[in-house]
Amino acid sequence: MKNLIYLKNVVTLQLDENKCTGCEMCLEVCPHEVFKMNSSHVVIQNRDACMECGACSRNCPFDAISVESGVGCAAAVINSLLGRDASECGCSIEAGGSSNKQGGCCC
Ligand code: SF4
Ligand code: SF4
Repeated sequence: MKNLIYLKNVVTLQLDENKCTGCEMCLEVCPHEVFKMNSSHVVIQNRDACMECGACSRNCPFDAISVESGVGCAAAVINSLLGRDASECGCSIEAGGSSNKQGGCCC
């Protein structure tokens, strides 16, 4: 999945580098290696690889990341078109990148 690229220039991901302490939690939980360390804080290295799962934002202890999680989920769109609950795409990402299958957006 690390090489997947989604629609260009539509990702809602925002990083406030002034709030970032460089704890590296987002590096750990992001399944697409969107961030990289740059001296004392992270920077976005590949914005278009972000699938808006929200794992980084949920796990950043310093509220440095915001993203509208789930808005780009293809499974949710398909479920919606089929008249199903759009939020039930079948997986989600927890800290450490594990999937808990409790709903949420794709992983
Ligand atoms: S989780 Fe937040 S504070 Fe930690 S490195 Fe990532 S953006 Fe910075
Ligand atoms: S929303 Fe998901 S894919 Fe996008 S940067 Fe955060 S952890 Fe990575």
